[in-house]
Amino acid sequence: MTTTRPAPALVERQSHDVTEEQAERWCRRGLHRMEGDNIARSARGGRQCRACKVEAARLWRERNAERVKESNHQRYLADAERRRQYDRDRRQALRRCRRGHVQDGATVYTRPDGRRECRRCRRARQRVWRARHKEA
Ligand SMILES: [Zn+2]
Ligand SMILES: [Zn+2]
Repeated sequence: MTTTRPAPALVERQSHDVTEEQAERWCRRGLHRMEGDNIARSARGGRQCRACKVEAARLWRERNAERVKESNHQRYLADAERRRQYDRDRRQALRRCRRGHVQDGATVYTRPDGRRECRRCRRARQRVWRARHKEA
């Protein structure tokens, strides 16, 4: 029969070796000694483990870097979309019919067959057509 557990006497001696005062010298996570340079003052005036504080700050920066990168990307996409919209608006504003009439939503007539036509040209053509009709 084999066992990896230490002898009961040894366990007892070890637990007695660590006095309460010594146990308190370990940080809350039990990873670092709370002594010397490793003791930092918390915002509330309490004692903090500097190593844990540094580690927490590093993790926070890491998480935030992701978030910052993500929000930068979102901003980039929004900017790109705004630029595309601006270009569309500009093209729309600059669009003119063959006779140079500005073509925007109000001045473009969509015919029943789906083709688009300049309203001003259309009106002019209708005037000409009516005048010719009267003459005839
Ligand atoms: Zn610590
Ligand atoms: Zn026109």
